[in-house]
Amino acid sequence: MRAAFMFAPDEMRVIETDAPTPGPGQVLLAVRAVAICASDIHIFHDGHSSGVYPSGPLILGHEFSGDVAQLGPEVSGFAVGDRVACEPSWHCGHCDMCRQGLTNLCRNVIFPSFPDTNGAMAEYIAVPASSLCKLPDNVSYKAGALVEPLGVGLHAVRLSGLAEGDDVAILGAGAIGVAVLDMCKLFGAGTIYVAEPLPGRQTFPAELGAEVRNSAAELQEIFEADNSQPRVAFEASGGPTAFAETMPLVRPAGTAVIVGIPEPNEQVFSARVPRRKELIVQFCRRSRNTLEDCVAMVAEGKVHAEEYPVREFPLEEAPQAMQAAMDKAGDMIRAIVTP
Ligand SMILES: [Zn+2]
Ligand SMILES: [Zn+2]
Repeated sequence: MRAAFMFAPDEMRVIETDAPTPGPGQVLLAVRAVAICASDIHIFHDGHSSGVYPSGPLILGHEFSGDVAQLGPEVSGFAVGDRVACEPSWHCGHCDMCRQGLTNLCRNVIFPSFPDTNGAMAEYIAVPASSLCKLPDNVSYKAGALVEPLGVGLHAVRLSGLAEGDDVAILGAGAIGVAVLDMCKLFGAGTIYVAEPLPGRQTFPAELGAEVRNSAAELQEIFEADNSQPRVAFEASGGPTAFAETMPLVRPAGTAVIVGIPEPNEQVFSARVPRRKELIVQFCRRSRNTLEDCVAMVAEGKVHAEEYPVREFPLEEAPQAMQAAMDKAGDMIRAIVTP
């Protein structure tokens, strides 16, 4: 098969390699769409993920959909040709976290594209059948790949305790920020404010009904004018000062949800801000039990993944897709490779 390997930081090449063999409980998936996440860019550019370095060439990509191409031993419920999306947090099912249903925090989690488990930027990937959900005919492969970032949005909104009518602030309108916005709308939020500095990324959230401004400081001005801060703010940009900027936006006794991966890892903030307001600062890791719900939401038109602005690239142009994702040019919120 053809696969896009990261050989070194900022170095990706598409080469011929052996297709994986599905083991017990696994299926071989013919990948049809794989979306490039900010975490893929982190690994690609920094050469590691959370301090873990790949021991050899690594295939990136964990947001994907495809067709079942072959069943491994002991697989039931799927047939060759089924169109599916995948939840990429492959949990063990028996550790203390899994037993509590906290599967995204599994102590033995395997995550494709996290060193050294190959991801989906290839013609084929072997995946646990238990991580798959069939796609209804009206859900595209593109939306199937976007079900993973949608799941992050759903998980973040569930963690926030958002109630109907709550105003919301969201920092960042990349795919995660837009997914959070989509879910906030679905959950009945009041006014949704978005801070996004890139002009190309301001239009789509505005079309979804958000009040869009250039920065957290501009949102702060709005809130200070009538002393009405939102109860919930979501950090979804991963920007260098975004963590510190999120907490001042929230009203006392409110919740700041940190969804983006703070970059740099060490963050400086004024403890006085969350302390005096008794804020809940809630971190969010990937998604938890969201796959079936998100597929159903897309199929029923409750969220807008089919309309998310993306740019598609064939597998041979995977390096260009990575570059486009890093450049964040135009209105594109995800680069999608279509093997
Ligand atoms: Zn992702
Ligand atoms: Zn586990």
